[in-house]
Amino acid sequence: MTYDNQNIFAKILRGEIPCTKVYEDQHTIAFMDIMPQADGHTLVVPKNPSVNLLDADAATFGPLFATVQKIARAVKQGMGADGVVITQFNETAAGQTVFHLHVHVIPRWDGVALRKHSGAMADSALLQAHAEKIKAVL
Ligand code: 5GP
Repeated sequence: MTYDNQNIFAKILRGEIPCTKVYEDQHTIAFMDIMPQADGHTLVVPKNPSVNLLDADAATFGPLFATVQKIARAVKQGMGADGVVITQFNETAAGQTVFHLHVHVIPRWDGVALRKHSGAMADSALLQAHAEKIKAVL
């Protein structure tokens, strides 16, 4: 698959469609997943274009995972979670639905099941409230 710059995350990166942003630096952006598998589910997206991990320039990963760690710490603390799961899907067969590399940061609580991947859309005010909790500890 070749990179399509009309994918939804490319449009978010260009500011053509909105997102509930929690963090941005020179190399990465982090925003709330619109169909969260748990409250506080955040996506970390490198600005370098690639379909997924398989075709990415290896130079992308240092800055990307520095932001993943920063966001994982903030999601755990800000959301009062017991743990954080990091996921990343490559190709349709593996569950990838948006074809610009991204990493999921999903808080977990003991005894609380994850919701379905790409399931229900969350209320935008609720996403904003969760983003504020995460931003407050960044
Ligand atoms: P993937 O399946 O590609 O690993 O994950 C894509 C993620 O992007 C899904 O969890 C889905 O809920 C989320 N998503 C899809 N469209 C949008 C959108 O327009 N805005 C935001 N913030 N998240 C999206």
